[in-house]
Amino acid sequence: MKNRVLEMLQSAEGYISGEAISGKLGISRNAVWKHINKLRSEGYGIESVTNRGYRLNSSPDIISAEKIQENMNTEFIGRKIVYMEETDSTNNAAKAAADMPDGTLFISEIQTSGKGRLGRAWESPKGIGIWMSLLLKPEILPQDVAQITLVVGMAAAKGIGCGAKIKWPNDVVIGTKKVCGILTEMSAEIERVNYVVTGIGINVNTEAFDGELSEKATSLYIETGKKCERCGIIRAFLENFEALYKKFLRGGIAALAEDYRELCITIGKEVSVIYPNRTINGKAVDINNEGELIVETETGTVTVGSGEVSIRGIYGYV
Ligand code: ADP
Repeated sequence: MKNRVLEMLQSAEGYISGEAISGKLGISRNAVWKHINKLRSEGYGIESVTNRGYRLNSSPDIISAEKIQENMNTEFIGRKIVYMEETDSTNNAAKAAADMPDGTLFISEIQTSGKGRLGRAWESPKGIGIWMSLLLKPEILPQDVAQITLVVGMAAAKGIGCGAKIKWPNDVVIGTKKVCGILTEMSAEIERVNYVVTGIGINVNTEAFDGELSEKATSLYIETGKKCERCGIIRAFLENFEALYKKFLRGGIAALAEDYRELCITIGKEVSVIYPNRTINGKAVDINNEGELIVETETGTVTVGSGEVSIRGIYGYV
């Protein structure tokens, strides 16, 4: 019944009286009032004015499988969605359910222990970001799995819009700050991949970051001054990802290289490549067909794999 009250508010042009709602739905005025209050407690902004009635001013940004899949044109990516109110990490949730179909999406309103690479933490506060993981079952070699991160980065940059670019290998930035991070994990045998889980964290409606993060993290809200609807971004990501991923499975990174170069801000930049035990400086000039970064240094050309490295600009994070 509450949903029918909501539908009436949504379809009304301007105000609708409590009497009209109660008459149409066959419930008392008092029951209408109770449903309105319940909707308010769920985040709907409902104004009430004496003699005019109720008006819906704003709706909360709710994620649901139904809303994501509305007019979505994918074949298998995101066709099955596991929605969670809370989880430790959507990558863990996906790994624990790896028997689900190829392309299943796991998404949570909050991650209590979101993960970055190399054991780092990823902040995933409730309701204001997109914390999701895709379960994939590609027929590729284990050594090629890292390349999927590049494909995810492209889909995320395109899905986010707002001039988002890729910072090789696994971050998406707007300007000089990180709006999205990607963490790809897999289960494999020597020659065979059992499954891949790729986690994507997008800061959407975060109003501000604290401490160290304020220097290097941003959100779509911070960049645009507008609150964004998360389901639309998720859908755009899934559609972009499927198109790019199909190309990748057919032709490898080579099939996407031109598009990738356009989206990647690292190429053409002076960078520091930080390995666990040393740092090298040079100019990133390109990626190769394995998705590795080619860096020209004073002592020659170096090929950098994404495994154990972090990339920093010479003057800052990007
Ligand atoms: P990098 O390789 O850029 O150092 P990772 O890919 O390992 O980073 O991601 C983890 C790092 O990202 C954390 O150490 C932290 O500095 C940063 N971080 C954590 N949460 C967020 C967030 N919500 N948005 C942007 N950056 C974050």
